[in-house]
Amino acid sequence: MVREIVYLGDPVLRKPCDPVTEVTEDVRALADDMIETMIAADGVGLAAPQVAVPIQLAVVDVRLDEEDAGLFKVDGKDAAYDDWMPLVFINPDFELGEHKGLGTEGCLSIPDVRAEVNRPLFVRTKLQLIDGKEIEVEADGLLARALQHEADHLHGILFIDRLSAAAKLRARRDIKRAKRDW
Ligand code: ZN
Repeated sequence: MVREIVYLGDPVLRKPCDPVTEVTEDVRALADDMIETMIAADGVGLAAPQVAVPIQLAVVDVRLDEEDAGLFKVDGKDAAYDDWMPLVFINPDFELGEHKGLGTEGCLSIPDVRAEVNRPLFVRTKLQLIDGKEIEVEADGLLARALQHEADHLHGILFIDRLSAAAKLRARRDIKRAKRDW
């Protein structure tokens, strides 16, 4: 079932999310719905608070943008997107690389607004899967960016919080304009 996505201004987007302690039927149903909702909205990622459920669960699928495909390892071995995406994960625990770089980001909760965000280019993260398994993912490129963007959502952080002062001003103006259509 496609769920309604909440927009900037909804307090649920600013709430630190609770860790998932037990994968219940409800959590599994939510994960399925989030995959459907992300696909319907043409997104590369979606976090549970974006459908108004403040728990540490998110999904990414970067296959829409294969051109940007970069490093992707699971438990130290090269992995293929098709074997793992859409990737649903809970309670991510990140180690970030030192080198940062700019990349364009948008967010399904802030439609029609895009900006250049400075983030670590490489991540190593422990992710729990919905079946209880824990994996270690290493990634760069769009996947590293998408994982960080979604993990930020789980802590009430939005990509517009991470912009330079000039980009923030521009984004604020874009948001004002875009909001009329939300
Ligand atoms: Zn987002």
